[in-house]
Amino acid sequence: MSRYTGPVCRLCRRETAASKTGEKIKLFLKGDRCLSKKCAVERRGTAPGQKTQGKPSRQKISEYGRQLREKQKMRRYYGVHETQFENYFREAARVPGQTGRTFLQLLERRLDNVIYRMNLASSRAQARQLVTHRHFRINGRIVNIPSYLMKAGDVVTIGERSSKSPLLQSNLEYVKNRNHPDWLEWNDQENAIKVAALPSREQIDTPVNEQLIVEYYSR
Ligand code: SF4
Repeated sequence: MSRYTGPVCRLCRRETAASKTGEKIKLFLKGDRCLSKKCAVERRGTAPGQKTQGKPSRQKISEYGRQLREKQKMRRYYGVHETQFENYFREAARVPGQTGRTFLQLLERRLDNVIYRMNLASSRAQARQLVTHRHFRINGRIVNIPSYLMKAGDVVTIGERSSKSPLLQSNLEYVKNRNHPDWLEWNDQENAIKVAALPSREQIDTPVNEQLIVEYYSR
């Protein structure tokens, strides 16, 4: 399946309109704009194609519909293709323990997500681009695969020439000024990220109910 190339704010508006609780669903797909007042969900939480703010939909949604929406939301949040997303689920289901947690942990361990979580990129899409442009090394070796799964103890460094890039230079300021999850450590001297430990569910703030996705794939 090809990657969605339309306006990404539509995806947040779609999820917000589908939310039964009226909660604003922000998928953070547009970098710094998502944190500003220009965010489309903040300005109008209507569904794509709906011009005015109406009452929340009273349309009954089936159990399958809820599971499907949750799956789509999580897939878009991490920017992963359908097939790859399903493969993560199959891999998580093979591991003993809670499938939903393992599934979420696998997505968090992706290299593009680690770069984004550390604020070295303003969105996962930008992180993916930086990785494919060979700006990062893992344990000293260049890795240009955004889906590379990080392990505890792995160290990500910025290539010597890459650290002079204006984009990475400005993003380095965000690393110093913004919070990052506890399972990642930042070394200011070496501009390096260390995966201190694999993230627990409590350390992952992705607003999804992974159990619904487990039920979706277990039908
Ligand atoms: Fe979603 Fe970001 Fe667009 Fe807001 S600005 S609607 S969070 S993609």
